[in-house]
Amino acid sequence: MVQHEKYSGAGRYAPSPSGDLHLGNLRTALLAWLFARSTGRSFVMRVEDLDRARDQGSAATQLEHLASLGLNWDGPVVWQTERIDAYAGIVRQLDEAGHLYECYCTRREILEAPVAPHQPPGNYPGTCRDLSESERREARRRIAPRSAALRLRFDEPHREISFTDGVCGETTGVIDDFVIMRGDGAYAYNFVAVVDDAWQGVDQIVRGDDLLASTPRHIALQRLLGYAQPEYHHVPLVLGPDTKRLAKRDGAVTLPELLEQGETAQSVLSLLGASLGLNEQGARVTTQQLLERFDEARLPREPWVWHPASPQ
Ligand code: GLU
Ligand code: ZN
Repeated sequence: MVQHEKYSGAGRYAPSPSGDLHLGNLRTALLAWLFARSTGRSFVMRVEDLDRARDQGSAATQLEHLASLGLNWDGPVVWQTERIDAYAGIVRQLDEAGHLYECYCTRREILEAPVAPHQPPGNYPGTCRDLSESERREARRRIAPRSAALRLRFDEPHREISFTDGVCGETTGVIDDFVIMRGDGAYAYNFVAVVDDAWQGVDQIVRGDDLLASTPRHIALQRLLGYAQPEYHHVPLVLGPDTKRLAKRDGAVTLPELLEQGETAQSVLSLLGASLGLNEQGARVTTQQLLERFDEARLPREPWVWHPASPQ
């Protein structure tokens, strides 16, 4: 284990409050904690509750569950619903600098439009990029009462972004003019995650590798806002027995479900540690012991396939 005496950066975990955390979420949280603590960083927590502002109860339970496994964090939890003024200020700043434009397209129009040259399918084809003021007035009238979304303008040399991921290695992505504020006024994940990571002093991001493809967008935005680029480690997901991403259909997968089946917080931690090759199956371990044994170089690179215990 490497010790950095006076390291001042931070790692983080950023759950979305959409019900109880399952083994996949818990394993990613444990990894984020191990990466941060093993490099002498702080570990900060952020609840990504913009889409589910009504689900505060599930966030509180998630935080309790993380704490019950021994994952501690520094400072107060950041709730994105309390950061709206900050997001609005940054949108204003980007707008004044001429980086934003309104987009009137529906999801369907974007899917049906021809793919722009050098862009992967699904990327925004730039339909509303260069409209005149009168075309914009007309489009606003056409889509009313719906409002326009706001997109970031990226010109050609800034569209291809490469970075080195600690786990996945060299990664390149071609980015489009992605949305930062949706037509319904909600701030997009790609925007708020970048703003909050910088604001929380995060310089190490550990998350599921399903988000690897979003990272070039995040880096493009960091460059635009003059933020330092954090290091990235996208870790393998946990899969169900059908080798699809772990989900409710796979049986008892959340912490309360596992506790109900006779597991304890302690045995779940041991299960997660074993999946990372840090302890023997069934051995009693503490987060401190896992921390002493953790080594990124020996992190399993394949997804962990979870096989629920057969019914007793
Ligand atoms: N809130 C996201 C999730 O729960 C994580 C986003 C991130 O780590 O950047 O999947
Ligand atoms: Zn558009």
